[in-house]
Amino acid sequence: MFNKILIANRGEIACRIIRTCNEIGVKTVAVYSDADIDALHVEMADEAYLIGTAKPSESYLKSDVIIEVALKSGAEAIHPGYGFLSENAKFADDIQKAGLIFIGPDSSSIKAMGGKSEAKILMEEANVPLVKGYHGEDQSIELLKEKAIEIGFPVLIKASAGGGGKGMRIVNEGDDVEQEINAATREAISSFGDGKLLIEKYLTKPRHVEVQVFADNFGNTIYLADRDCSVQRRHQKVIEEAPAPNISDKTRKEMGEAAVAAAKSIGYKGAGTVEFLLDIDESFYFMEMNTRLQVEHPVTEMVTGVDLVELQLLTASGEELPINQNEVEISGHAFEARIYAEDPDDNFLPAAGNIKYLRFADGFDDVRIDTGIRETTDGNIETVSIHYDPMIAKLITWGASREESLLKLNKALADTKIIGIKNNISFLYKLSSNQNFINFDVDTKFIENNLEDLLDNKEISNIDLSIASAVVQNLRLESLIKDQEMANDDTSPWNLSNRWRNNLTREENLEFRIGEDSKNVILSYDDLEDVEVRIGDSDSISVNLSYYIDSFSAEFEIADNIYDVTYMNENNNLTLIYEGRKIELYWNNPLNDNADDVDATHNLTAPMPGSVVSVNIKTGDKVIKGQPLIIIEAMKMEHTISSPIDGVIDRIAANIGDQVDDSLVLVYFAEA
Ligand code: ADP
Repeated sequence: MFNKILIANRGEIACRIIRTCNEIGVKTVAVYSDADIDALHVEMADEAYLIGTAKPSESYLKSDVIIEVALKSGAEAIHPGYGFLSENAKFADDIQKAGLIFIGPDSSSIKAMGGKSEAKILMEEANVPLVKGYHGEDQSIELLKEKAIEIGFPVLIKASAGGGGKGMRIVNEGDDVEQEINAATREAISSFGDGKLLIEKYLTKPRHVEVQVFADNFGNTIYLADRDCSVQRRHQKVIEEAPAPNISDKTRKEMGEAAVAAAKSIGYKGAGTVEFLLDIDESFYFMEMNTRLQVEHPVTEMVTGVDLVELQLLTASGEELPINQNEVEISGHAFEARIYAEDPDDNFLPAAGNIKYLRFADGFDDVRIDTGIRETTDGNIETVSIHYDPMIAKLITWGASREESLLKLNKALADTKIIGIKNNISFLYKLSSNQNFINFDVDTKFIENNLEDLLDNKEISNIDLSIASAVVQNLRLESLIKDQEMANDDTSPWNLSNRWRNNLTREENLEFRIGEDSKNVILSYDDLEDVEVRIGDSDSISVNLSYYIDSFSAEFEIADNIYDVTYMNENNNLTLIYEGRKIELYWNNPLNDNADDVDATHNLTAPMPGSVVSVNIKTGDKVIKGQPLIIIEAMKMEHTISSPIDGVIDRIAANIGDQVDDSLVLVYFAEA
């Protein structure tokens, strides 16, 4: 076994590799870009070296610099993780030339599987089944057209050098084929620098099933179960599971053996994945082989009990595989949900920015969280950089049955809270409780076909409003306590709550605005933590602020149900998360407008020194009370400054990028 290895990667996969190294006593060297100075992988590694600026081409893709660091630090081997340089044959070669070991296959295997077309030619020779198609050298438009017609529509055009679901085009009829081929060529050249195309029969209801293979340097090659990765958006995976459900033992075995044959035909070493399309009749076709560890490898680990990273280190250091095919046992069922910074409502557009609150599921058995981002529940900020993959974490569960494992996933997702950045948690929550998914009525179009049921319900319910009212009360209680300088008191604020009791029942109006919509709620209470909420003509709902967790979360008892709610309030803009649901609304509280920030003329001053990051208004704009006008960043936090009145903007004294003092007037209102 190695003494020390370098990890040429970042984020969750770097942390994942370091974890195994720590367990088996291998020292670790991290590399990082200047965007990752405070990153978790840097903190976790025994040593860490800055290798360049944030842009991957200036740091994580700098193979020569990385090899230099490996030599300097005395590392014997380099683990590439996935992405970045993991499938770069030259990197594997250069590592070897430098006298180090690449933790992965030989560069010849990477090259063999690097082009989809070339890989298909090899697989044909190895008798691995291929979907009907054309993957030849001749790329003349006439021939490609002819082949498309011969294969029969619909066909799928792919870039041979493609990856990550990019550059694929479905063609449904002959009339479109020439135009689509031309467009695909252009796209392939601009994305991958290589215009070569292949054409395949487009299967209309396939599943994506892949097989984990493993080989040592002595010719032993095994397969470690299969994974179903059919649940995809934009041809990219979001939930994976192992073993793949609803497959006969016969097909499972044939697929496993085909994967081993594929690996053997190219003299494969280390961890690899052979991806297949599985048709409704259980016929399966080779799609491609990934010559590295996959993002979804944990589900295989959960059902086989094998640490794949440990196995990679073991075989790369020249040891024999410690298990043979007969010893591979599958137990139970595992899921992985990828938590991404992205917007499901906007075609899953990736997001970047600051995470202001992040709490992972806690206290569940058989739940594993792989992440490169720290929890942040104390006002610190963690950042998802625009330069890298927007994955925040992988939530992995195991259960004795699929049903049990899926239920654990659903519960763990409900207990995962993120505020401050768009994310797909409520989408994953809905997915994991979707009846079609529970029944495994799944193919690669699952998300597309079920999208409406999977997106967040934007209708605000009476329970939502009751929870929002409870949060408002909670905020008041907390600020009352702070005012009394009791914030540092160890005692739970709720023990002190009878101080806020009086004998008069108060009644007040709260207004909640959700987009264009506005809802009025009447609260009545004689002590702050026991409230009756009335919405329109409906019966009043009793709300009890039962249990305070931290400044961002509490448990409320509402109409006899307990809700675990996480919330954030920024200038009356409220974000609420409960039971996998996230709601954003603005609340208008007559007791607490931005009085401190407003002088007699209502001109707005900066509430603190900071830099202006956004100006949402221009001179002459009519604004309404509560409308966000300017965002200031201070202490790594963004603070939204909202309008204190309904009025007209007379002058704006701040530009994006300005450093402002806390007394500076930012916005002047026209006199009413
Ligand atoms: P990439 O390398 O870009 O990820 P793949 O060849 O692995 O591309 O395909 C990605 C996804 O596209 C598959 O998981 C599957 O959902 C879909 N797909 C690929 N080939 C076909 C096909 N012939 N018919 C139907 N769907 C396909």
